[in-house]
Amino acid sequence: MLNLLRTLLLIGLAIWAVRVIWRWLHPPAPAVRQQQEQPTQALSRCSRCGTLIPQQMILWHQDKPFCSSACRDA
Ligand SMILES: [Zn+2]
Repeated sequence: MLNLLRTLLLIGLAIWAVRVIWRWLHPPAPAVRQQQEQPTQALSRCSRCGTLIPQQMILWHQDKPFCSSACRDA
């Protein structure tokens, strides 16, 4: 009976150790990833063709956003 208890305790300890090591090797990344993606999720539509453009790629012309110089000059 004591042997069984000790075995169960060892199994529990092993599972706990695996979980601790697993968490250490795989830290929860989704929360960090979401914070990094949020600034780039702001998209504007091209005034000519309607393409979604990331903020840093917008070409502004007369207060209107354009996706490329081709759309801007068309
Ligand atoms: Zn365009």
